[in-house]
Amino acid sequence: MMVESDAMSPRAWRTPDYEAARWLGEQVPLAEGVSLEMANAPQAVVLLSGGLDSATTLAIAKSQGFAVHALTIRYGQRHDVEIDAARRVAGDVGVAGHLVVGIDPRLLGGSALTDDLDVPKGRSAHEMSQGIPVTYVPARNTIFLSFALGWAEALGSADIFIGVNAIDYSGYPDCRPEYIDAYQRMANLATKSAVEGAQRVTIHTPLIEMTKARIIRKGLELGVNYALTRSCYDPNDEGLACGQCDACLLRLKGFAENGLTDPVPYQQQKSTSG
Ligand SMILES: [Zn+2]
Repeated sequence: MMVESDAMSPRAWRTPDYEAARWLGEQVPLAEGVSLEMANAPQAVVLLSGGLDSATTLAIAKSQGFAVHALTIRYGQRHDVEIDAARRVAGDVGVAGHLVVGIDPRLLGGSALTDDLDVPKGRSAHEMSQGIPVTYVPARNTIFLSFALGWAEALGSADIFIGVNAIDYSGYPDCRPEYIDAYQRMANLATKSAVEGAQRVTIHTPLIEMTKARIIRKGLELGVNYALTRSCYDPNDEGLACGQCDACLLRLKGFAENGLTDPVPYQQQKSTSG
């Protein structure tokens, strides 16, 4: 594992004096760039891919009063343009820290997102709902949540947010509510902080029952700038979205159902009906 960008280390945004001063009820000195509000807020780790769903999840976590620590994982996905999007979104929303962590892509091979396999194009909603798509990445959410769980415990946080959705991507086994429930139970057996009773881990999935159109409405209410996000499974060398993969079609449909135009640039667009 390789840490590619610096984030503030656990509690580094509270100076040692901060804890002492808070204990004594004195004026609180804070690390540079950290507001008192952020230092006093409960902390959460949010998995941030740079796509539409995770950007909305980040905004929801923040709107619920959490100081958010964004975690982006580089796993050899073809759409590396997402990593840049994650950095822009984290900067725009305003986070307490952002880690971009790389894992060896050979660990997650065999997917159209990581290997030299064709990304399916122009599929209907019915086709998308049939079976587990080739864009499935082996055990991805289990691996990602485990990274988030470790970071959360180190931060003294028990709240993890992930933007999984069981409506649009019903084919992915690691996006289902029963999977999230099982993971949460495991997390509460697996961590010192939970076993010693300090805090119970909660895996928050605010988007799990939302349609793409509703996710977009919620995000716009919270001020998410969707022009900064990237969702395409197969962008070209300039980073332009293909307009035809499952992720593009769902996204375009979601904006269209709100009577809006997706603000990100596309190479070409197909009909979003069906
Ligand atoms: Zn696409």
